[in-house]
Amino acid sequence: MIYGNIYDIQKFSVHDGPGIRTDVYLKGCPLTCVWCHSPESQTFGPDLAYMEIKCIGTDICGECVKVCPNGAVTVGEPTVNLKGDPITYPVIDRGECSLCLKCADACPSKGLFNTLRRVSVEDCMRPIRQDKRYYDKSGGGVTISGGEPMSQFEFCEALAMACKEEGFSVALDTTGFAPTEHYLKILPYVDLFLFDLKHMDSERSKKLTGVPNELIKKNAKELADAGARFQIRFPIIPNLNDSEDNIRATAEFCLAIKHAIDVVQLLPFHKMGQSKYERLGKKYRMNASPPNAEFMERQRRIFADCGLPAQVG
Ligand code: SF4
Ligand code: SF4
Repeated sequence: MIYGNIYDIQKFSVHDGPGIRTDVYLKGCPLTCVWCHSPESQTFGPDLAYMEIKCIGTDICGECVKVCPNGAVTVGEPTVNLKGDPITYPVIDRGECSLCLKCADACPSKGLFNTLRRVSVEDCMRPIRQDKRYYDKSGGGVTISGGEPMSQFEFCEALAMACKEEGFSVALDTTGFAPTEHYLKILPYVDLFLFDLKHMDSERSKKLTGVPNELIKKNAKELADAGARFQIRFPIIPNLNDSEDNIRATAEFCLAIKHAIDVVQLLPFHKMGQSKYERLGKKYRMNASPPNAEFMERQRRIFADCGLPAQVG
């Protein structure tokens, strides 16, 4: 049986492809985009996450403090919870944590948890099947996302095949950074590629995302020539990739594969992932403000003026 590492399955998603969808989020990504809004998706292994709102307090519980073999969890200062009741929360010293996850196993309220779930294809298919009628009515289906789902190619391919076998439409949300032969191999089981374009200059791409862009561009072109359909996703990140030069270069690149593009989505930067960094004890590196609607519309028009179907969001 093929197993994969995921960090979430989200039902009733309406932002990751057409209609109502079930998103399966595979863990791990070869890119390290500075604006990433899902830090739990970046690592291939386990992560210890802490959500204070779910913790019932060390005075009542304190299991995490008791079981940690490294003394990495201690009792914090007394404070009040959201209801205004007195409570004491644990404090995690990430520098001392060895990720043994004993505290997560002992936590009765899931205040501490491992973001990684090891699952089989069938484990994913069970929740997917439950919403068949919504996919049928809305023109939706399944979106395999991440992280970079193609980094777990065997599992990703097996999941796409299982979905197609049961008649579900499949979208694959990808950075484009995986071997070309893998994309061509999975193509028969993918109805739509949600394909990211982040920077057209390879040096800048490397600086901002950790990888150059030649392979990404090559994959987009080869897939387009092989009959793939695309929803291009272009995140607009203030001062990092929103220069006119980069916007026009991205539009030019899209023009070359226009025949394969259903829509270019310009996605304004947002800060919704910030709290997830806190949960994982990681540093959030962005301090930009989201671009305003007028700016986004001007960028959209650059694509539209080239004859490309383009939308904001
Ligand atoms: S995961 Fe880290 S904090 Fe939790 S018990 Fe293990 S060492 Fe301690
Ligand atoms: S084990 Fe969980 S609920 Fe108990 S104190 Fe620790 S984080 Fe809070």
